[in-house]
Amino acid sequence: MKCSVLIVGAGIVGCCTAYQLARAGVRDVLVIDKADTASGPTGRSSGVIRQFYTHPTIVQMARQGLGAYAATKEETGFDSGFVRTGWVLTVDARSESVARKGLQVQAPLGVPSSWISVDDMREIVSGISTDGLVGGIYEADSGYGDPPAAAAAYLSAARERGVTYHRATTVVRWLLRGERIVGAETNAGPIEADFVFNCAGAWVGQLLASLGYDTPVTTSRHQIVTLRENPRPRRPIVSDPVNLVYMRPEGSDLTLVGSNAPSDSLDVVDPERCPDHADDEKIESMVTNASKRLTDLAEAGIAHNWSGVYDVSADGFPILGKLPGLDGMAIATGLSGHGFKLAPAIAEIMASFLQATPDPRAHLFRWTRFEEGDLIRSTTTSSLTSMTTAGT
Ligand SMILES: Cc1cc2nc3c(=O)[nH]c(=O)nc-3n(C[C@H](O)[C@H](O)[C@H](O)COP(=O)(O)OP(=O)(O)OC[C@H]3O[C@@H](n4cnc5c(N)ncnc54)[C@H](O)[C@@H]3O)c2cc1C
Repeated sequence: MKCSVLIVGAGIVGCCTAYQLARAGVRDVLVIDKADTASGPTGRSSGVIRQFYTHPTIVQMARQGLGAYAATKEETGFDSGFVRTGWVLTVDARSESVARKGLQVQAPLGVPSSWISVDDMREIVSGISTDGLVGGIYEADSGYGDPPAAAAAYLSAARERGVTYHRATTVVRWLLRGERIVGAETNAGPIEADFVFNCAGAWVGQLLASLGYDTPVTTSRHQIVTLRENPRPRRPIVSDPVNLVYMRPEGSDLTLVGSNAPSDSLDVVDPERCPDHADDEKIESMVTNASKRLTDLAEAGIAHNWSGVYDVSADGFPILGKLPGLDGMAIATGLSGHGFKLAPAIAEIMASFLQATPDPRAHLFRWTRFEEGDLIRSTTTSSLTSMTTAGT
């Protein structure tokens, strides 16, 4: 089989990249996945889209993602399940200066965010305890999407524009001519391609190992529990780095609770062997921590739980683009728990690798930044407390 462009992986990045290429008029694009659309971490993602970072490019990309998901239905005819709830970040004395720095970065980029007092927070978030807080940040237009629906939406829109999709098609090795990738051997036979986008997320490292590349990404387990309240109050998403959890509405009566603990990155797991469910002990600690902030949750019943894999790079931000010494392929990995919100922007950057001059944002995410010691420095909600403690 032959194609012009082969996209490996039908997670949110592969699907958004397929859509970008189709929209740009690139012909003969084939997407393959070893299982099916959103069968990896995309299908387990919390889908939170907030814009709090302290690096302006990452803020801009998160904002681009927010705009894209809010308009997916209008633009493509398919729904990404976007719900605008607003987003609140809790801030204690340790993290106040970094939080305020984030606001300064966001303002010129058009993010409608503001500092809120603890009294404001009690107005905005029903039943919140503001114990230990000095205030917070409120992003009025943030929300969450439905990651599997969004991936399916962009893939469907790409297929309507001529992209082909083959599920249950696994890359087993690369086809090489000299130092150029010219396709992939799969369980369904060889696929020759002029260019390959390796969007296999947490599996990119394994796929590059056979080429002799040591990818600076670890794969770790992230656990989720949903709680049922009757009735559930209307609340925005709350990120609470103080108690190492985030909470967002799910459907009409559930609240999804995820862990923000920096120590989760130590729970290293092979993406093929990640347990489906969360551990009892972790569920208990997440519910206890969430209930410290949203006190009504102490009475809620446990509905569901699951785990998924984060592909975490050495600086906590994506690695995008071509590899030194290898032509014919661009990779996307190391999305480090930000991948859903950043995917529409990442797809734009990925598509630009077919051009003579890539998107100017690509330089920030280059593979070589680690050996050059030019890491991306931006606060994330999970690092907020530890970074401020470390004085970064
Ligand atoms: C529990 C959890 C919560 C999260 N919450 C958020 C959040 O709130 N906000 C946010 O922005 N991000 C969040 N993330 C991160 C985000 O969901 C991921 O970064 C993103 O979904 C990764 O997408 P991807 O397309 O890169 O990879 P994946 O979803 O991993 O897709 C890669 C695909 O490649 C396929 N593949 C692998 N190997 C091969 C092969 N050899 N041949 C063919 N196909 C192959 C896989 O089957 C898979 O479908 C969360 C992640 C998890 C796990």
